[in-house]
Amino acid sequence: MGCDGMTPRGVVVCDFDGTITERDMIVSIMERFAPPEWEALGKAVVERRMSVREGVGRMFALLPSSRREEIVDFALKTARIRPGFPEFLAAAWRAGLEFYVVSGGIDLFVLPILSPFRLDGKIYCNRAAFDEERIRIEWPHPCGPGCKGDCGLCKPTIMEGFGGAWTVLVGDGVTDFLAAERADLVVARDGLLRRCLELGRPAASFETFYEVRDAVLAAWDAVRAGRSAERAKGGGP
Ligand code: ZN
Repeated sequence: MGCDGMTPRGVVVCDFDGTITERDMIVSIMERFAPPEWEALGKAVVERRMSVREGVGRMFALLPSSRREEIVDFALKTARIRPGFPEFLAAAWRAGLEFYVVSGGIDLFVLPILSPFRLDGKIYCNRAAFDEERIRIEWPHPCGPGCKGDCGLCKPTIMEGFGGAWTVLVGDGVTDFLAAERADLVVARDGLLRRCLELGRPAASFETFYEVRDAVLAAWDAVRAGRSAERAKGGGP
């Protein structure tokens, strides 16, 4: 196993806000800490009239850097992890799948909330800087040449980096649309699920990570069985 060059590589790419957490943490934080102007920005992003980068950047610029600790405390206290997440993670790792969180959220809350799950080095997200009076967002994972969008954190470009692997996208929202087009399997809820159905693209639906686990492991077993069958026929590289 693993040294014959034929064991397939499987990668799970998982959204954070509204997927791993039950609610979007940016929305929760804005509701609690931002002046009412944030709502028009949030609406414009959801309706895709404003890029995520511009909208999220402008929303965080409404918050004073001095409130950093309060915001982190609030995020840790209020975030609810969707049921079955630790069980899914353990099952995915046991099955030899790699797992990455790819989030348009901010390190400020993503990293503390995920700290119990041993995901160091497996998390892609945006960064908050506190060197000015108001919170400034940095975008370390911009769009590559294959993306025509203005994503902020570019999920499609990150997906391209896993080229050649069998990939699963688990997600829920607008920022997952383009990434879903590049995935072999989509496990979706909410806006992403509706979008997949509209486009006639197969997607498994989920409410808890127990359902994600069942969908992903069944598909991954089939992929591995298919590759073994190819080998038995004398195919494969
Ligand atoms: Zn992009």
